[in-house]
Amino acid sequence: MALVDSHAHLDGPEFESDRSAVLERARAAGVARIVLIGLWRKAGDFGSAVELAAVDPGFLWATAGVHPHEAEHVPGEDWQRLEELARDARVVGIGETGLDYHYLHSTREAQRAGFERQLTLAASVGKPVSVHLREAEEDSVAMLRDSGVGRGPGGVIHCFSGDARAAERYLELGLHLSFSGIVTFKNDTALQEAARVVPLDRLLIETDAPFLAPVPHRGKRNEPAYVAFTAGKIAEMRGVPIAEVGAAALRNTERLFAPKLAAKPAPKS
Ligand SMILES: [Zn+2]
Ligand SMILES: [Zn+2]
Repeated sequence: MALVDSHAHLDGPEFESDRSAVLERARAAGVARIVLIGLWRKAGDFGSAVELAAVDPGFLWATAGVHPHEAEHVPGEDWQRLEELARDARVVGIGETGLDYHYLHSTREAQRAGFERQLTLAASVGKPVSVHLREAEEDSVAMLRDSGVGRGPGGVIHCFSGDARAAERYLELGLHLSFSGIVTFKNDTALQEAARVVPLDRLLIETDAPFLAPVPHRGKRNEPAYVAFTAGKIAEMRGVPIAEVGAAALRNTERLFAPKLAAKPAPKS
């Protein structure tokens, strides 16, 4: 069986002591590809997702981006650095970027500016966006529509947590939807309905590790191997074999993020 984890954060301290064992368990569970989401952390620091992925590019791919939580805090030279990273052949996508009006760790204005900037960057380098959205549906739909990203380099609403009606709005924009362990939580029937009806060629699956571990690991550190529980739940709801969901999600992820080898290498810094 082939599975994929289209969105994981593995370069943080949560995995410092056992990262290679985590990757081994992922392979043993059938995970054929992991997209490592590389994010700005502090001045001059975009983490090490790109370096981690470069060690095993047949298994690991990396993105680079600024999370909406941090949009307000990123100095100008780091936005410059992001533009260089976006052009780096080792980077397969931009993000996660987006809007999070729940926590407001950055102002709405700063989040919109950061999102706009990364949508423009994605279009200019021809790489897809990984989009984080929370309580910002109207603004996000408008910005994604205006950017044309869904019809251009493409994109995915990561950790999609809306209902079938919201799903339809993003699908109409040409975007993919990625489902996380939240679909295994018993009480979220609206989201489960969305996971049941999304077209198989637009469906991705992810862990968002170390967060959001699926049942039966809910509340613990998440890791890519656990994507099997999420794939299993989606397969059960759709009444198809897990192998079918896994293969589709892997195919969709590879099509969306396929490295753009024509991208210009980053200038020497
Ligand atoms: Zn996110
Ligand atoms: Zn994430």
